Amino acid sequence: MEFLQPRSLPEALAEKAERPEAVPIAGGTDLMVELNFDRRRPEVVLDLTRVPELGTWDRSDGVRVGAGVTYTRMVAELADDLPGLAIAARTVGSPQIRNRGTIGGNLGSASPAGDCHPPLLAAGAEVEVASASGGARRIPIDEFFTGPKESALADGELICAVHVPAATGPQQFAKVGTRNAMVIAVCSFALALDPSRGRVGTGIGSAGPTPLRALEAEEFLQGELSSEGLWESRGPLGEAAAARFGELVAAAARPIDDIRGTAGYRVHALGVLARRTLTWAWGQHRTGRS
Ligand SMILES: Cc1cc2nc3c(=O)[nH]c(=O)nc-3n(C[C@H](O)[C@H](O)[C@H](O)COP(=O)(O)OP(=O)(O)OC[C@H]3O[C@@H](n4cnc5c(N)ncnc54)[C@H](O)[C@@H]3O)c2cc1C
Repeated sequence: MEFLQPRSLPEALAEKAERPEAVPIAGGTDLMVELNFDRRRPEVVLDLTRVPELGTWDRSDGVRVGAGVTYTRMVAELADDLPGLAIAARTVGSPQIRNRGTIGGNLGSASPAGDCHPPLLAAGAEVEVASASGGARRIPIDEFFTGPKESALADGELICAVHVPAATGPQQFAKVGTRNAMVIAVCSFALALDPSRGRVGTGIGSAGPTPLRALEAEEFLQGELSSEGLWESRGPLGEAAAARFGELVAAAARPIDDIRGTAGYRVHALGVLARRTLTWAWGQHRTGRS
């Protein structure tokens, strides 16, 4: 196996162009499992851990999070700007996995169960990708996932960063697993409230062939909050509205039965997670605490 170790992003893109078959490795927490179980045997591996441009984040255009930023850093450094992503990052694996695993690797695997995906969908993120020949382009997050473990990343492209609008209101994330730590989600749900634009964003994980948005639920809640003047009054949200929101989120799921849970359980649990996260987030909006 050849192991390429570029020292800059242009070098990494040039090596990927020259060796399109090269498989990128960041934290290795997904890729090494595949290698260890002999599910994949790449001839060329492209190590991205020495590419400094991928390991930074800044507030240049929304919040631009480099593909190599780890879960540990999302928790420690991004909780104010991107609280939904930070809450999700806190639930990932174990300290060892959070120290190695990256946002770019989560997107690269494009698993329907990836924990970064629901908060990125809820916040309306864009994925910045680049190739040596085509330069950089941005893919809206809801066009990024094209099938189970498949993405819109083209041959020769690397994921460089994710652009996420900084939160202007409460964001929440909740996940059901078969135990509390070190589990892939049975299902998960993220909610982002943006009072400045009257926008509600959602993201569903592990309950469809790709991570999904619950568009009808978003529209319903936006309508409720606007027509009742609740964004401004910060009044209580009726139980019926929260229950309807839960039903619409559950209806947006397209789950299957698998080793982690049944489709029926996932639909039920998503309704509960949606109501629960809405109650938390609306409570935060009412009290002004995040
Ligand atoms: C014990 C354990 C527990 C886990 N728990 C969770 C969990 O709770 N939640 C969760 O979501 N995941 C979990 N995972 C999966 C994994 O940790 C995450 O998906 C992680 O984000 C992968 O990041 P990485 O940097 O390690 O990716 P890598 O393994 O290095 O790469 C993953 C894939 O992305 C590609 N890739 C990496 N970087 C780029 C890039 N810049 N451009 C293009 N392609 C790229 C690689 O080629 C590979 O196909 C767990 C894994 C293990 C082993």
